[in-house]
Amino acid sequence: MMKKEFELVLQPSGKTLPAGKIFCIGRNYASHAKELGNEVPSQPVLFMKGSTALWPADRPVPFPAHGSDLQHEAELVVLIGREGKNIPEAEAFSYVAGYGIGLDLTLRDLQSQLKKAGLPWEVSKSFDASAPLGLFSDRVTDPANLEITCEVNGELRQHGFSRNLIFPIPFLISWISRAFTLEPGDLIFTGTPEGVGSLKPGDHVRVAISGIGSSDFYLSGD
Ligand code: MG
Repeated sequence: MMKKEFELVLQPSGKTLPAGKIFCIGRNYASHAKELGNEVPSQPVLFMKGSTALWPADRPVPFPAHGSDLQHEAELVVLIGREGKNIPEAEAFSYVAGYGIGLDLTLRDLQSQLKKAGLPWEVSKSFDASAPLGLFSDRVTDPANLEITCEVNGELRQHGFSRNLIFPIPFLISWISRAFTLEPGDLIFTGTPEGVGSLKPGDHVRVAISGIGSSDFYLSGD
């Protein structure tokens, strides 16, 4: 069987890119690191998700069965447009194809157990459909100055600004590319602002990012 490709569509150009590697940065907003009782990191906290974590916004997100506390993390996502290795920070933006809306879904109960045991997080972070993606835009002019909100069933849960990223986007691109060749279609989840919280089956999550738009995600019912 052919492996299915997850295609990213950029608006307004209509350009498409098949999704590649999925990098995620944890604790990249001081306010969020603090709410989970974590230290503010002195270098990026990087983890990755597998290809089956990707999920389109137009299908109900399946509720995972291997944990109980599923939480939303609304994030600005960087889409890489061309290949690079050891990218200088000053050239980083020339490797970006666009910016999008993503949810880094997390089974917080499982993650807490894994963290306590000093084990990797993947089971709590990289499971199927743990990376729903919404709109992507190739018209974002100032990615360091975007407003991010996340509403659950109409109630505001998260509200942040990309200017508060501890490690800004050019730094992340440069830093990641020291260890990994970045390729077209690679995605970087840049971290979530404060206000993460629990979801239940049937919830409606709306993530809006200024300059991109808003995307609706629906958790599947019981
Ligand atoms: Mg996250």
